[in-house]
Amino acid sequence: MIFGKIKYLMEKFNLIIIGLLIILFGCNQDNINKKKQETVKSKTDTLVHKNSDSISINEPTQEPADTLLTDIESFSDNFIFEIVYACENNFFQKKFYNCPKCYLRYEAIKALIKSSNDFRKIGYKIKLFDCFRPFKVQEEMWKTLPDRRYVANPQTGGSIHNKGAAVDLTLTDLSGKNLDMGTEFDYFGPESAHSYSNIDTICIYNRRILKEIMEKNGFKSLESEWWHYTYISKNKYKNANKIFECN
Ligand SMILES: [Zn+2]
Repeated sequence: MIFGKIKYLMEKFNLIIIGLLIILFGCNQDNINKKKQETVKSKTDTLVHKNSDSISINEPTQEPADTLLTDIESFSDNFIFEIVYACENNFFQKKFYNCPKCYLRYEAIKALIKSSNDFRKIGYKIKLFDCFRPFKVQEEMWKTLPDRRYVANPQTGGSIHNKGAAVDLTLTDLSGKNLDMGTEFDYFGPESAHSYSNIDTICIYNRRILKEIMEKNGFKSLESEWWHYTYISKNKYKNANKIFECN
């Protein structure tokens, strides 16, 4: 009888041990699962964090330097292009550029965009005829027409266009129709001067509006050419030969 009781107590004790072990292992398994989940979560968190970090690093948040000679189309699509030296329909009857691009120093681009915004408010758009002109094109122009009444001599420094700080332009209405400025672009005669008064009142008004807004935004006019404006900069730019990126 006594052996029977001892056997019964031992079996009960074993059951308790087994029960405790199951609880213990069960808890451990739960802990392991929890730990696994936490590891996955923390890996995911790290991944998301890394991703957001890399996005902020890779984003082109930096503004270009003021002096950078760059394409205005990268910053605004509010301009009309009639880049005359990219075709033969110009004063020289000769094509000088591979494609119709307007490159300028970035500070001049910013000022031109401000002008464009001002013109848009009163119902006008800017049409661009010429911007940066590579120095070697200036030399070609001089070879074609060596006359300083019409072409800036590259031997004596060339043009501000060669430095990327001058722009030739006119105004159009919002449908793209040219405003009457009294003469065509690149008309070399006294009629193109700002002070020339023997033209229609509307032409005088159009030239004046162009001049006022361009000057307000940091450009300087040229007395003999109503279409030519130079950006007033504290930077001293040199003649450049940057090649247009045609696309
Ligand atoms: Zn010009």
